[in-house]
Amino acid sequence: MILLDGKKTSEAIQQEIAAEVAEIKANGGKVPHLAAILVGNDGGSVTYVNNKVLACDRVGFGSTLVRYNDDVTEEELLGKIQELNESEEVDGFIVQLPLPKHINTQKVLEAVDPKKDVDGFHPANVGRMVAGLTSFLPATPYGILQLIERYGIETSGRHCVVIGRSNIVGSPMSILMAKAAYPGNATVTLCHRNTYDLAYHTRQADIIIAAVGIPGLITADMVKEGAVVIDVGTTRVPDPTRKSGYRLRGDVDFDNVAPKCSYITPVPGGVGPLTIAMLLKNTLRAARKEVYA
Ligand code: ADP
Repeated sequence: MILLDGKKTSEAIQQEIAAEVAEIKANGGKVPHLAAILVGNDGGSVTYVNNKVLACDRVGFGSTLVRYNDDVTEEELLGKIQELNESEEVDGFIVQLPLPKHINTQKVLEAVDPKKDVDGFHPANVGRMVAGLTSFLPATPYGILQLIERYGIETSGRHCVVIGRSNIVGSPMSILMAKAAYPGNATVTLCHRNTYDLAYHTRQADIIIAAVGIPGLITADMVKEGAVVIDVGTTRVPDPTRKSGYRLRGDVDFDNVAPKCSYITPVPGGVGPLTIAMLLKNTLRAARKEVYA
């Protein structure tokens, strides 16, 4: 059993990006710049955005954090998005989700210039991904592809079972794994909350990608010997032995599943750390105008 080390892989990718930034600087070019819009004071969102800004510093990117109270109007938000769309300085930007209820999230996401949409949430990028055109891939699926590729895991002709059909993880993952490319060329089954007999499907999987947010849903009896298991779930469960009072648990019953696997991601330290690296990678691609060339 080989652990898929997301932390190490994320660090390697960030080092590669930092080296590219150093080269851009040495050639007198413009350093990539990421902006983030954060609405409100939700603890999780504040931490995520701060980590993204810190990561920019680490690789030598410029960054801007725009903060609003949670009573910000949709108009104000759309105005800021327009400004960032037109900014010469900002190569890519994100709107941290979730947004307050009075704001139409879809309208906000569609206001972002697809060329600067480094989260890959704009329908133009989703459509380009489905059509097999260059696009900004959402960070989590992009990170999973990197893990598979950097560990040289075979995917062609394999049966990949994706569990969860969210717009940001499960659905794009199922599309990417079925593509005529590496990683890809897999036979894909997409399971979700209406799937009858989930275990029937997972037991046939060479590769399982679980993105449901139900701790321990995937148990050892549901996994074939030698399977590759990628766990996207990170649910906070109470843990009085921790200072924080909680710990992160994945969708996979790691202790019992791991011995059966050829490869498996830990939680934490698997897919999670890659999302920031892939956001930076998308920002670099935006600055290089690689996606809409
Ligand atoms: P994420 O952001 O990680 O993708 P979401 O909460 O947005 O997570 O999506 C959860 C997905 O998990 C949904 O697509 C839902 O259909 C799926 N799901 C929820 N419960 C089950 C279940 N018991 N079995 C299979 N899939 C499930």
